[in-house]
Amino acid sequence: MVVEIPRWSNAKMEINKEEILNPIKQDVKKGKLRYVANCFPHHGYIWNYGALPQTWENPDALDEHTGCKGDNDPIDVCEIGYRVAKRGEVIQVKVLGIMALIDEGETDWKVIAIDVKDPLAEKLKDIDDVEKLCPGLLKATVEWFKIYKIPDGKPENKFAFNGEAKNAEFANKIVAEVNKHWLSVMKKEIDAGGMSLANTIVTDSPFKIEYSKAEEVLKNSPAPGPAQPIDDIGKFTCFLSRQVAFSKSEVKIRKPLLVKIRKPLLVKIRKLFPDTNLAAFNL
Ligand SMILES: [Mg+2]
Repeated sequence: MVVEIPRWSNAKMEINKEEILNPIKQDVKKGKLRYVANCFPHHGYIWNYGALPQTWENPDALDEHTGCKGDNDPIDVCEIGYRVAKRGEVIQVKVLGIMALIDEGETDWKVIAIDVKDPLAEKLKDIDDVEKLCPGLLKATVEWFKIYKIPDGKPENKFAFNGEAKNAEFANKIVAEVNKHWLSVMKKEIDAGGMSLANTIVTDSPFKIEYSKAEEVLKNSPAPGPAQPIDDIGKFTCFLSRQVAFSKSEVKIRKPLLVKIRKPLLVKIRKLFPDTNLAAFNL
């Protein structure tokens, strides 16, 4: 896999499909750099997050398992090893399973995998081993994907298969499928519209470029630099989950409620209602 977002970081970095040789860049929305909020009790992404190169979820192909079309991106990977990876790192991973997130109506597969060099890698052979050796991790993963866009004003994400992860065999079949879609695009059997498909390895691709040309592109790209600091606005946004029961009054809130409050008030609420399932987003 190619690591786009190291665990516990917030900047929404991704492989840019439109620019030549597809560099990893930060997503920009409405002119602003995009970050994911901290969804209590998580901090940033909870795995090393990235994509399998040479894959593409075809936005024109209806996925037979989910009934939704692809999200027009390489397939995503959650790497669950102990190490915090570096952005841009290429890691050999073992595929353990897969979840089908339905993100705004599109199929968005999430491959669950582990770095082959991780101390647990040998013991983890399939998705059931993940539950045995890393209890709670799959549940946290589903929860994270469900709520991570709520602070941006988006609805809760849905999962196909009731949020259950499919096993390694199933996952590898999906990976093989999205690899086929990628190859069709590279060979121009499918029109991908707007993607830069320049490559140095696909021999029968009309987009193949010389290695020297690719090196030139790299030479002319900006040098790596430190990340811009996140604007600390000193504000927390708290999200009261649907299960929340407000102390004695037992008020059940049926829909997620998003309110902006200042940090001191959040601390106060926590003190007053210690049992409340209060998720806080630091925006
Ligand atoms: Mg995706």
